Amino acid sequence: MKSGICSKCGAKDIYGDNTTSHGIDLSWTSIFPSKTLLLACGSCGYLEFYIKKQQDLAKVKKNFQKIES
Ligand SMILES: [Zn+2]
Repeated sequence: MKSGICSKCGAKDIYGDNTTSHGIDLSWTSIFPSKTLLLACGSCGYLEFYIKKQQDLAKVKKNFQKIES
């Protein structure tokens, strides 16, 4: 998605937004990062969120369970 290509449908129609909350209430947990990058596909509607701050990423790694591949 960050490369401008949708990871789901392959469309080159990606839009990004850097606003803080995107209107979604994330206050249910202090773990969830306050700064996110939102990418949306203009073709299929798929959304991706990226954690922007390294300290938020560290919190997630500490408090979330890792998904084993
Ligand atoms: Zn797509």
